[in-house]
Amino acid sequence: MNIYADRGNLLLLERRCHWRGIEFTLRSSGLGEQLDPGAADLLYVGGGQDRDQKLCALDLASVKREAIHEAARRGVTILAVCGGYQLLGHSYQLGEETLPGVGLVDLHTVRADGPRLIGNVAIEVELEPGQRRVLAGFENHGGRTQLGPGAQPLGRVLRGHGNNSHDGFEGVRAGNVIGTYLHGPLLPKNAWFADWLIATALGRQEPLAALDDELEAAAHRDARRAAGVLRG
Ligand code: GLN
Repeated sequence: MNIYADRGNLLLLERRCHWRGIEFTLRSSGLGEQLDPGAADLLYVGGGQDRDQKLCALDLASVKREAIHEAARRGVTILAVCGGYQLLGHSYQLGEETLPGVGLVDLHTVRADGPRLIGNVAIEVELEPGQRRVLAGFENHGGRTQLGPGAQPLGRVLRGHGNNSHDGFEGVRAGNVIGTYLHGPLLPKNAWFADWLIATALGRQEPLAALDDELEAAAHRDARRAAGVLRG
């Protein structure tokens, strides 16, 4: 699935690697295609409407399931956004129908009757111990996600709805596996997070080379301002 600026997120990863002389190759994996768990440093699962999710859910839960689990075991960085995030869990229930998930993280999602959860959102995350940062973006989902006891959230909601509008959590994090409802241009609005993904995917301990991030910093400020927070 790749709507909601998912291509822009990939483009940003490509550019920030390219500007630093880091090789970047993008390969897509379509319906029915096997996934090689050792072929990528980073797997990206984009978002999509309920209709697209039905097509992808069965494929992810059958054709690609074992490879995704194996990739996660090997420490491959995985970023799943919105519809892709929902499918990382056990299931996505839409009325009478229950779509299977990949079962990589302990969560499930239910499409509630209530209004869609839409708007600018900001969350506080601590990807590295002691380093609290803000991720700002946009959410638009009908599904409500509940983390199970075996799952940790990606962050704490500062503004917006997050996983379900009730428990104050957003997304999921399990080591290098990250799921989030923040879509739209998530990475262009949070270039620091893109760099964290790149460094984590490459297993870099030392910081990546600095870039001229004047525009990226302005985009981050604007996204935080839109969400009603300006800090971090
Ligand atoms: N179809 C899902 C929902 O509405 C995910 C939507 C999305 O990817 N933005 O909950």
